[in-house]
Amino acid sequence: MNEAMQQPVTAVKGIGEETAAALADIGIATVGELLAYAPYRYDDYEQKDLAAVRHEEKVTVEGKVYSAPLLTYYGKKKSRLSFRMLADRYLITVVCFNRPYLKEKIALNETVTVIGKWDRHRQTINAYELRFGPAPETTGIEPVYSVRSPLTVKTMRRLMKAAFEQFGEHIPDPLPPALRRAYRLVDKQEALRALHFPRTREELHQARRRLIYEEFLLYQLKMQALRRLMRDERRGVVHSFSEERLSSFLSGLPFVLTNAQRRVIGEILADMRSPRQMNRLLQGDVGSGKTVVAAVALYAAALSGFQGALMVPTEILAEQHARSLAELFADTDVTIALLTSSVKGKQRKAVLAELEEGTIDIVVGTHALIQEGVQFRRLGLVITDEQHRFGVEQRRVLREKGHAPDVLMMTATPIPRTLAITAFGDMDVSVLDEMPAGRKKVETYWVKHHQFSRVLDFIEKELRRGHQAYVICPLIEESDKLDVQNAIDVHSQLVHYYRGKYEIGLMHGRLSADEKERVMRAFSENRIHVLVSTTVVEVGVNVPNATVMVIYDAERFGLAQLHQLRGRVGRGDAQSYCILIADPKSEVGKERMRIMTETADGFVLAEKDLELRGPGDFFGTKQSGLPEFRYGDPVHDYRILEVARRDAAKLVSSAAFWRDEAYAGLRAELEASGILDGEKLD
Ligand code: ADP
Ligand code: MG
Repeated sequence: MNEAMQQPVTAVKGIGEETAAALADIGIATVGELLAYAPYRYDDYEQKDLAAVRHEEKVTVEGKVYSAPLLTYYGKKKSRLSFRMLADRYLITVVCFNRPYLKEKIALNETVTVIGKWDRHRQTINAYELRFGPAPETTGIEPVYSVRSPLTVKTMRRLMKAAFEQFGEHIPDPLPPALRRAYRLVDKQEALRALHFPRTREELHQARRRLIYEEFLLYQLKMQALRRLMRDERRGVVHSFSEERLSSFLSGLPFVLTNAQRRVIGEILADMRSPRQMNRLLQGDVGSGKTVVAAVALYAAALSGFQGALMVPTEILAEQHARSLAELFADTDVTIALLTSSVKGKQRKAVLAELEEGTIDIVVGTHALIQEGVQFRRLGLVITDEQHRFGVEQRRVLREKGHAPDVLMMTATPIPRTLAITAFGDMDVSVLDEMPAGRKKVETYWVKHHQFSRVLDFIEKELRRGHQAYVICPLIEESDKLDVQNAIDVHSQLVHYYRGKYEIGLMHGRLSADEKERVMRAFSENRIHVLVSTTVVEVGVNVPNATVMVIYDAERFGLAQLHQLRGRVGRGDAQSYCILIADPKSEVGKERMRIMTETADGFVLAEKDLELRGPGDFFGTKQSGLPEFRYGDPVHDYRILEVARRDAAKLVSSAAFWRDEAYAGLRAELEASGILDGEKLD
């Protein structure tokens, strides 16, 4: 990073305080961050002869309106608008869903440009964009950015242009020329130019290839540098504890452990006893019982005279875990504390003091745990739950609060082993591949949108039994305004439907963190009976009283994500249900729904998901449990990830990397991420 890239966005001509605030809202503060902000898709205005366009392919068609638009409503809020259009020598039909207001705007004989999916059999375009006037003259590929109002995609394009004109020349290239040559990668300046202003698809492809490699290489360098750090510390913590007390704890548990739990506990305890630092990933489907495994490990640490920390992504989850652990440890003399940003004042002081004195054995918390001022007397075990929610750096900071403590990372998302190793570095992997006995399978149904009122009746039946329900609406990155609207609409429908009888809550990404916590809490305390939410509803949240999971527009989700959502119910004794509302058009879409109704096994679903995923289909990376990247997709771009991993390993173990000017750019990036601590690595 150089100085130009670190200037605030207001350094760009034409960006004032207001625009800067809007940019900050989507995580862009500096010129460098602005230029790095990648479009999530591109619109291609190159027109093709319709005869050459394949079924379901995306097209841009310019033509004249040939018939007055026809508007029909169906369901409660759904509408379909259609008109005939004369495009070149073809008379075709254009259909727009849920945009009734277009009717007034479409005039006979007017020239319009439609972008959408071509249905070859019906000679119809299912339009997702309709523009008045002819298609742009350029055969240009236009970037589409994910924005939040008041920003628009148009503004974003303008800002990029201004930023690039002013700062393009100052974009530093961290990749040494030798590496660039070896893989024929374009330089950074050219890559960002092509990312924002591509002239051809090929340019774009080359730009992405280069950016993905750089991103993966830096990630892998961080991982490898960390490994060096961990190796350099001569030895990890040796936990030595009384086997007797541990087995009496195990036999006092309120249930019999599954064989998988026994096996995994054995693997973890062996690591803990050994002087080698544990670095283990624990995968287990939702409900497979990871918490008790964590508890046993924490207990072993406490018996050995060490402290243990369990870090989770949200406050509610932290409180839940603290509660379950307190129950499990009720008959022991283990002391547990909770540390989140809500623990304030005197109470906080007391917790911090006791952690430092060592009178607290186990602390459960959020990222509050990794703040400065949190000090342990003898931290011996660090566990993270839903580990993909934490960055490499956050995990490192927590780890460094102890002296080479053992590390266990838990995730509910099944990740194929080879992929896990590549994506997370060399770690050991344990798998909980067995569900506790007697667990009722969540019954899963697939229904169509027109059956929504029956779904509402079904929910009501469960509510009358005192149970609760989730209704999830998809979050589409493309327009988060529309999304939220989706959730808001469904929410108001339900409020209307259940008026005076049940409390309906609403949760979406536009709420502040505080508001989200408040809604979640009300739901977990059964003051809200039905929670309508976008997918921000937290992974790992445990409300055992909820027995219905309704997923609206389910075809929009990947299988892995549907499975995660389904895992929010079926956590208590009562039979639970998952209802997928979807009208998928494609065969793959239908197949997805069928698989969901038939399969309860997360690993099977994860594999099917990969199978059904086309190249470039970014479905599901978000919740896949893999780290999130700006440009690359660890599954789709797996081969680049592998190459980057090999290169990174070579680099960190070469003296030249730590010394030569050619690598200064890469070193600077590592330093900026706080990973590089010169002293320790020398
Ligand atoms: P997850 O792996 O999703 O974190 P939890 O640890 O929250 O799962 O466990 C889900 C539920 O199953 C909890 O209520 C827990 O008490 C229970 N449980 C865990 N292990 C067993 C077991 N061996 N037998 C019966 N119930 C169990
Ligand atoms: Mg859990």
